[in-house]
Amino acid sequence: MPMNDKVRVYDLARELGLSNKELLVLLEKEGYQVKSHSSNLEAEVANMIRDLIISEREKKKQKATAAATPTAPPAKTEAAAETKAKPAVKPMAAAPTMPAPKISTDLKELHLKSPVTVRDLADGLGIKPNELIFRLMSMNVFAAINQALDEEMVSKVCDMYGVKFVRIRRDKQQARETQKEEDGGTRQAHLVPRPPVVVFMGHVDHGKTTIQDYIRKTKVAQGEAGGITQAIGASVAQVGKQTITFLDTPGHEAFTAMRARGANATDIAVLVVAADDGIMPQTIEAIHHAQAAKVPIIVAMNKMDLPGANPDKVHRGLQANGILPEDYGGEVAVVPVSGKTGQGINDLLDRILLEAEMLELKADPGAPFEGLVIEAQMETGMGPTASIIVKNGTLRIGDYLLCGQCYGKVKALIDSQGRRVAKALPSTPVKIMGLSGVPEAGDKIVVCENEREAREQAEAVAAEARQATEVPDRLASLDNLFAQLEQKEKPTLKLIIKTDVRGSLEAIQDSIAKIKSERVSVNVIHGGVGEVTENDIILAAASQAVILGFHVRAMPGVNKVAKQKGVEIRLYSIIYDLLAEVENAMRGQLAPEIQEKYLGKAEIIQIFENSKVGKICGCRVNDGVIRVNAKAKVYRNKEMIYNGQIQSLKHFKDDVREVKSGLECGIRLDNFEDFEEHDQIEVFEAVQVAAQL
Ligand code: GDP
Repeated sequence: MPMNDKVRVYDLARELGLSNKELLVLLEKEGYQVKSHSSNLEAEVANMIRDLIISEREKKKQKATAAATPTAPPAKTEAAAETKAKPAVKPMAAAPTMPAPKISTDLKELHLKSPVTVRDLADGLGIKPNELIFRLMSMNVFAAINQALDEEMVSKVCDMYGVKFVRIRRDKQQARETQKEEDGGTRQAHLVPRPPVVVFMGHVDHGKTTIQDYIRKTKVAQGEAGGITQAIGASVAQVGKQTITFLDTPGHEAFTAMRARGANATDIAVLVVAADDGIMPQTIEAIHHAQAAKVPIIVAMNKMDLPGANPDKVHRGLQANGILPEDYGGEVAVVPVSGKTGQGINDLLDRILLEAEMLELKADPGAPFEGLVIEAQMETGMGPTASIIVKNGTLRIGDYLLCGQCYGKVKALIDSQGRRVAKALPSTPVKIMGLSGVPEAGDKIVVCENEREAREQAEAVAAEARQATEVPDRLASLDNLFAQLEQKEKPTLKLIIKTDVRGSLEAIQDSIAKIKSERVSVNVIHGGVGEVTENDIILAAASQAVILGFHVRAMPGVNKVAKQKGVEIRLYSIIYDLLAEVENAMRGQLAPEIQEKYLGKAEIIQIFENSKVGKICGCRVNDGVIRVNAKAKVYRNKEMIYNGQIQSLKHFKDDVREVKSGLECGIRLDNFEDFEEHDQIEVFEAVQVAAQL
């Protein structure tokens, strides 16, 4: 069997959204000896595992819906699990020496509240505690009857008895949310203005760092004498009596990645544009990211000290990209500055405060604390630390916190000048010491009543994360545009368009702008030249957009990320097809109008360079026939990297119309040369092209 029919464990794990360890355990349970995550699996084994996981997830989903329906027969309830005298599940007969039963796809569930003691578990399994203790001993675990077992151990034992352990989730989170809402209701009167949180964005080398350094030097009080200023991912500038919080430039991806997790840390984006250079590709990307996040933009027109500074060019460029400067009758402030001389920086800060005032940014220092992690790490001598921004409420030393899978009690708070402080108010960045682990940037952090509540909730989140192996549903897709958006008054189809050359990008954007529909509007949130990148996926995920590629490919890794995040990528080689699909989608008519009939399959065995026509794939036809002008899809490790057409077909030196299975041939693909040996080419015939527009 050729190598490329095999699948590496880590690739399969990633595809299925499992950790390597989880997949290895599953493989072992299914009786496959696998050495490590980089081992190869036969295609059939991989397929079997895929089927198993998919059917398990289907079942889980059905169960979840059944449980959510009031008329459904009562599932195992908390009450049932709590009735200790009555085991919730009848175990399969089990003796301590019995080998672990093979995992079944139809596991019974045992619902238990954590912490689970030996007695709880034995009761749940319907066995004598002694039997369980004996069983545990054989696993090198020596536990007394009232001792709590960790969840991994409980799951392991349950697996052995052929049942699936399900931790009963407490309703506390829900109770707290309600409480918060109530608090929110009564606290409306306590809202006070809060400082703006600002991020710098823009093209590389346009001066983001220089401007921030200048502000830091002149507007940020230095660390205490002899103290070391802490890098906490943000700084606070003092402007008169007011303050502005600056987030260290995270890069557009990080900004949008945070937003994709539902965390919008930023109130205002400062778009830095070098006056001698004008609008560049990353400037445009920054504009799109800020617009997608609905964050207002202030333009800092930098490098005004340079003789080559050309404000007109900047203004025109901004206008061309949908940013209307104030001086030209629009609403966006364009402030001329120089990060080098400091010229205009005070104006910029004033504009930021003015914008903040108009945004009426408010928070309630008396509300329960809520924050957002901007960065986190393990630090020597300090343990896990997290830099956070206070979104609402006040954070104090001694507070019990919950942050994703981490929890803890605040041991120390360090502000942006490296000072130890007792509390932090809204919009303030601080570093927290005392968490149980390192959270992720974008994680929400909230205060809890007490340590137990914080720990239990963190455990529940961790347990959920372990089980949450499901691939997310498609966020947005052309096919189900209407089904998904039916509720909204006039849904918007958001698109990200990537093309090989600027000309086709403009042509596609123009044509899309001309498509009119009463029911849906269309918005190209980002258009760019070049292949589909992970950045595009992140933006699409955060904005629920569909990615359309024209004469470009998506790298295999990018495809996987898209799958994991539920982002749809559609690749086209004919503008007409692209536009027709968008138009049909907007009219709710995207039934499979172009049906593909499979013709055959070939593998690239060698690549030839031809000085006149470019690269040619030397192929062996493994199935069916390959036909000239037929539609072709190129797959690498099962990921589609090209969707286009067979431009020309040769058998030895002759141009031919088709080549049959078993023979070798030369294939030239339309507008695509990034193929490699062992890529698979699948060929189709377009059976019907309905032009019912
Ligand atoms: P970033 O990549 O956007 O963070 O850009 P930097 O702040 O690193 O600046 C890139 C280069 O431009 C550096 O060599 C800076 O010294 C220079 N630079 C930044 N701002 C100015 C300015 O206002 N005037 C001049 N003359 N040079 C500047």
